[in-house]
Amino acid sequence: MTKGSIFDLKRFAIHDGPGIRTTVFMRGCPLDCWWCHNPESRQPLIMDNTATGNDGSTHRRSRTALADGLVAPEQVIEEVARDIPYYDQSDGGVTFSGGEPLMQLDFLMKMLQLCRGRSIHTAVDTTGYAPSEELGRIVDLVDLFLYDLKIMDDHAHEQEVGVSNRLILDNLKMLTTRGARVIIRVPLIPGITDTNSNLDAIIEFVKPLPGIEEVSLLPYHRYFRHKVTDPELAAKLAGLQPKTEAEVSAMSRRLEAHGLRVKIGG
Ligand code: SF4
Repeated sequence: MTKGSIFDLKRFAIHDGPGIRTTVFMRGCPLDCWWCHNPESRQPLIMDNTATGNDGSTHRRSRTALADGLVAPEQVIEEVARDIPYYDQSDGGVTFSGGEPLMQLDFLMKMLQLCRGRSIHTAVDTTGYAPSEELGRIVDLVDLFLYDLKIMDDHAHEQEVGVSNRLILDNLKMLTTRGARVIIRVPLIPGITDTNSNLDAIIEFVKPLPGIEEVSLLPYHRYFRHKVTDPELAAKLAGLQPKTEAEVSAMSRRLEAHGLRVKIGG
């Protein structure tokens, strides 16, 4: 049986797609953003220790237990399905996030199929850094992609997050030509992703693509800094000065001036 590894499951999420959602945070990420707000996602995938209870039962599984080791797709979706009434009332659903959900393709596909069978709306929050053929396999199972774009200059992308952005950009084109619904998410990392030149490059790339519903600008926040233990990294992060609300609004207007629908926040 396909099992996978998650590191958190958040109910009543309102910033990870439309409506009230459950966000499933999956372990594993191929990028190495030094400002990563979810360092737990980059811990190696757990390959031992299933999350099965001592008596073998799974029906009383807690969120902590689900996030503790390898779990079956059915266990995760059983937890997700608890909030179907809230999804129905709010046009919400489940969001698979991470890390990078495509790092666990079989596990992800099985969960998507289970959601389809129960008419639960699905969103996949992706870095886009996955083999195109693998991403293509989930297109018809996903109701909405939350697609992260960070840095458009390839050299800077490689320097800051450890990989080229070419695959990410190619995959975004592929998704839109296949008719996927896509919301672009831009994390506003001060001085790195939120510069006028980077935003202009994002506009230029995204504007001609069909199926882009919205661009979400995600303001930088410091809530995660308690997770950072390396003093050098902590000092580097302390040097990032979040933009003011007025500055973020100006960025939003910059995109809107090109006909893009923009939302501030997830
Ligand atoms: S893509 Fe997201 S989870 Fe992965 S390293 Fe970057 S910030 Fe962290």
